Amino acid sequence: MGDYRVGLGIDVHAFADPVEGRELVLGGVRIPSERGLRGHSDADVLAHAVTDALLGAAGLEDIGHYFPDTDERYRGADSLQLLGEARRIVGGDWAVVNVDVVVICERPKIREYREKMRENLAAALGVEPSRVSVRGTTSERLGFTGRGEGIAAQAVCLLERIGGG
Ligand SMILES: [Zn+2]
Repeated sequence: MGDYRVGLGIDVHAFADPVEGRELVLGGVRIPSERGLRGHSDADVLAHAVTDALLGAAGLEDIGHYFPDTDERYRGADSLQLLGEARRIVGGDWAVVNVDVVVICERPKIREYREKMRENLAAALGVEPSRVSVRGTTSERLGFTGRGEGIAAQAVCLLERIGGG
């Protein structure tokens, strides 16, 4: 049997005040919304959860270790680029078997954007979109996601060792 490793990534971002004029970016897709998410980078909560799942599967440090929010280089950063960088850090000894990510919010509805999100995440990871799954769910109006205070995302990533070891 091969050497497989699973990683879990969880991220949360609060909505910014509309006057801050933040864009809402999920899975690299700019979604029409009067409010974006607060964050040092583009606050792409979906991409961040996937990045942490990837790093976790490889037994590495978390996203904040490699891309600290105190670093001016990452102000407004494109989180898909950070995911691509994390993929390079993980290295060629590991192949991405699959990624599954769930976005938790009442709005926006993820369904109409999920194909583009899959393509974006897969391109950053260097895999076919068929290896990436994106789904949305609500929290039935309960908690901070239910009240529309923020968006949460949870991801798992499975890696298979194909070199080194
Ligand atoms: Zn984040």
